[in-house]
Formats: sequence, structure tokens, C-alpha cells
Amino acid sequence: MSVKHEQSARAFREAKNFIPGGVNSPVRSFGAVGGVPPFIARAAGSKIIDIDGNEYIDYVGSWGPMILGHAYPAVTEALQQAVLNGTSYGAPTLLETELAKLINELMPSMELVRMVNSGTEATMSALRLARAFTGRNKILKFVGCYHGHHDSLLVKAGSGAATLGIPNSPGVPDSIAGNTLTVAYNDITELRSVFAEMGQDIAAVIIEPVAGNMGLVLPKQGYLGAVRQLTEQYGALLIFDEVMCGFRVALGGAQSVYGVKPDLTCLGKVIGGGLPVAAYGGRRDIMEHIAPAGAVYQAGTLSGNPLAMTAGIVTLKLISQIPETPRQPDFFHKLTAKTKQLCQGLQAQAAKFELKLQFHQAGSMFGLFFSDKAVDDYDSAKQSDAGAFNTYFHAMLEQGVYLAPSQFEASFMSAAHTDEDIAATIAASAIAFARVADY
Ligand code: PMP
Repeated sequence: MSVKHEQSARAFREAKNFIPGGVNSPVRSFGAVGGVPPFIARAAGSKIIDIDGNEYIDYVGSWGPMILGHAYPAVTEALQQAVLNGTSYGAPTLLETELAKLINELMPSMELVRMVNSGTEATMSALRLARAFTGRNKILKFVGCYHGHHDSLLVKAGSGAATLGIPNSPGVPDSIAGNTLTVAYNDITELRSVFAEMGQDIAAVIIEPVAGNMGLVLPKQGYLGAVRQLTEQYGALLIFDEVMCGFRVALGGAQSVYGVKPDLTCLGKVIGGGLPVAAYGGRRDIMEHIAPAGAVYQAGTLSGNPLAMTAGIVTLKLISQIPETPRQPDFFHKLTAKTKQLCQGLQAQAAKFELKLQFHQAGSMFGLFFSDKAVDDYDSAKQSDAGAFNTYFHAMLEQGVYLAPSQFEASFMSAAHTDEDIAATIAASAIAFARVADY
């Protein structure tokens, strides 16, 4: 394919005149890998097309939401119908209850659900609720987990914050960051000792049960269960941030895979089908403290927006399709199998060049680390070779494969990716890994 980026380069220069850094979310700027980010003109199925006319097989999927692929006909048709009825009313609709009900059926721990517009809002609101409910101020998060950019959680965060080296952003008051305790992911001993010291002050533990913001890192066997046990013992709430992994690792989220029931869950991405939706919810006795049922204030002009609800409803219905025959694999089995097929193909290519890589997969999320050591927390993730990743990333991009432009991000498979896409990606990886081996 042609790899001309002239239009994108011009657009990026122009954007920088009017938008900080030329982008509306930092990781889009390719700050970690260098070069010009392709400006996207349109997308369909598994492909995105930039303004220079380059077509890419897309494994970013808008950072997770596009599980059905781009411009999925049933979603776009429902949106076309919905838009004719008006785009926002600021008044209740049937659609909001329908989406909340669907979420509750798929994730029964979410007894009451409140819709918001971004994952940041969901985690921010869940923390306020946890503090109000417990009457405690401290919260505990894990190094390398990212939960959005509000003050309490922009502390030792992953994702773009990790990539850009600003886990503690200027502008976050010490008085707020000081209430956020951080502990290494997957280290139950460290967590136990923090609880032993100040467990009575901790309102909530918030965790990505499958972490996608330091690259893809899986919880160790028994780890989430131990976190659940400790929070219960000390009367702290357990918040699962499933904004990324919910409806990605399995239909019931990580909580169904690991059999651990959190008090509160945050969702986003897939539940909006590509429109701005997120949600938090959980135990009825806790959620009933949210206004107007209770005194904890949280609101939103566009929350529960009818277009966003429509996209979410259609998406959740499609991904929860029941197989017509018992032997027919369901949506998630197929998607997971496809992701495995890709990972195995990539692994086989890497092996040819004797590259020592760590491949991780959870459902339709996958990631690789250029490291010869096991990666199970942020420290080990950071030890991977950033230069090798950049070489690999650009070699893939040149060949029409669009991966997340950072080592500290997961990649996503969609239902729209075909066997041909997977074969083309594996073929491209042979060239990319050869370059890494030479680098
Ligand atoms: N939590 C997790 C686990 C996330 O991955 C993200 C975003 N990638 C967020 C929260 C924040 O969501 P948003 O970008 O919609 O604010």
C-alpha cells in the first residue's frame, strides 16, 4: 500500500494551531512512537481509511468500543431512525431503562445503573459514592491502572499518562492525590500490609480486573478473590473498573470469568456502541444513595442521550445473541477464537526470529510486550523494550495494520475482522519482526 501521509501531516500542523497538541486525547498524537498520526476520514467493518486514502486493518477499534466493527449496519440504521426523533430531550426516555435492564441482565451485580458520558465520569462518581457510603476518604488504586483523568485517580496511572510520563499531572492538588493510595498490581502481600496499616480509612479499592492500560496484564490466579476478601474484611467497597474489559473478556465481564462480585462496577466503551456512554452501578443499597434517590449528587445534561442509548442497546443485543443450536459457537466464543488465531500466528512469526516476547490475551483483548520476562504489573511492563515496540508499530502501520500507538495499550479484535485480515496481519508481522530482529 502507499504510505503517503501528506494530507495528515498538513492536517496535524493545522490542528495544532487550534487544539492543544492537535488532538483531543493525548495518546492520539503518536507521542510515544513518533511520526504523524493518520487523520481518519471514515471507517467500515474492520478497516479505517485516512485522509490520504490509506486503508488500515484496525485493531484499536476506537480504543475498545467497536466490537461489531465500524459502521455496523444494524447500529447505523437504528441511529438513522433515532436521529429523526430528535437528538436530546433532557427528560426521561424508555431507552434508558431498556439499556439499564440489558446491563443488569448481563451483569447481575449491577442492580441499579446510572448512565454518564465517559469512563472518567463513571469512576469519579463511583468514588464519590463510595466515600459518602463508607464515610471514609482514602481510596486505593493499583500502579499502572488507568481509570480516567479526574484528580483522585490521575495518580500512578497507566495508558496515555504512562506513555507521556505524566502519571501525576500538574494541577492535581496534593490534598486530593494524598488521599489516593497506590499498590503494585497482582501483589496481594503489599495490599494486605496497606490494609493492616490503614484499612479503617479506605473507602474503596478500584481495580481493572483485567488491566488494559499498562498493556494487557492479567490478574494472577486467586488474586481478585483475595482483593474481594480483604475489602470485605475492612468494610471498604470493591469497585471493578470494567470500562475496557467489560463486554470484552466475556459477555458478563471479568467478574463472570473470575467469579468475583464487586460492590460497584464502572462500564463504558462497548455499552455505547461507539457513542459517548459510560455507566456505574452495583448494589441497590449503595446506589440508592445517588440523587435524587439519595443525597450524593451527580448529574448530566446529555446523560442517557437517546442516540447513545440506541447504539448501546443494539450493540448489547447483538453481542448477547443466543446461538440457534446448542453446538453453534456464540458471539464471544467466535470472537475469542479469532483473537487466539491471530495471537498464535503472531507468536509463530516472532519465534522464527527468536524474539522473546510476552503475548497476552483475554477474550477479544490482546497485547504483546517486547520483553523476555513475565509481565504481571507496571514495573515489569515498563521493562519491555520501547524501541523494539516502535520499530514493530511503524513497520505494521506501513503495511496497513493499525495498532495502538503505545506499548502500554491493549489491542482489540472485532466481529468484522475476517480470516483475510488475520492472515494479512500475520504476514505483515513477519516483516515487522524481521525489522525488530535487525534493530
Ligand atoms: N477506565 C478504564 C479502564 C479505561 O480504559 C478508560 C479509558 N480508556 C477510562 C476508565 C476512562 O474512560 P474515558 O476515556 O471514557 O473517560
